[in-house]
Amino acid sequence: MLEKIRVVLVNTSHPGNIGGAARAMKNMGLKSLVLVDPEKYPHPDANSRAAGADDVLDNARVVSTLEEALGGCSVVLGTSARDRRIPWPLVDPREAADLCLQTWQADHDAEIALVFGREYAGLTNAELQRCQYHIHIPSDPEFSSLNLATAVQVLAYEVRMTWLKETQQPTHMPEVEATGMLGAAPATHDSLELFYEHLQETLVEIDFLDPEKPRHLMARLRRIYGRSQLKKSEVNILRGILTETQKAARGEVIQRRGEHV
Ligand code: SAH
Repeated sequence: MLEKIRVVLVNTSHPGNIGGAARAMKNMGLKSLVLVDPEKYPHPDANSRAAGADDVLDNARVVSTLEEALGGCSVVLGTSARDRRIPWPLVDPREAADLCLQTWQADHDAEIALVFGREYAGLTNAELQRCQYHIHIPSDPEFSSLNLATAVQVLAYEVRMTWLKETQQPTHMPEVEATGMLGAAPATHDSLELFYEHLQETLVEIDFLDPEKPRHLMARLRRIYGRSQLKKSEVNILRGILTETQKAARGEVIQRRGEHV
């Protein structure tokens, strides 16, 4: 689906925004960029803002009319920062992404265009009337206009999320990247019981827990540790801390330090 979606930028003034749009597209897996009569392009500012998405820029098609840009498209969605006089089918970016999916599901060869307007004036009414749907990003009405490349990013993101969900691809980073905990097995019941014993023993040794008046301390601590769903390796860390705490309480650490001096 993603390769069927082309991003069309109409009459862009700032080449930096073209680069920013290319980067936003590449981040989200979109590749096809069409530039309608850009004011300054090619331009070094486009490449510097593309930040590595130069291939999207290199493959961008530059045309002189919107007509040419939309050639072969079955569905055209135009973005607009504000309400226009003529009522038109209006969707938000998520609904727009869903329309892309429905179009692709009905015909895998159908081409889809997402059209973006000029930085200062958006799309003209005539251009908007070439689009079957208008997309409005529901920004604060008091300050509704997003930067062009940012608007491309929002649409590209929604399209990607829809695509990932449709193809049942994960939208979270694998656990190893997210937490560095891949393969960390959960602690067993037995090892947790040994830990609680060790904890209790240590708390008594350091006079935090009075065996005559335990005041449900161990139950409360079990509740805290229970909530954190400890891994095996984490129990080992906690046991290590307890062992060192006991040594310190018994003066062993101090003695050992003394020996080194
Ligand atoms: N002053 C212009 C703003 C253009 S912003 C106007 O009022 O239309 C440049 C482009 O970014 C717009 O043409 C549109 O493609 C996109 N854009 C910015 N904000 C948007 C929003 N809230 N919803 C949809 N598209 C938006």
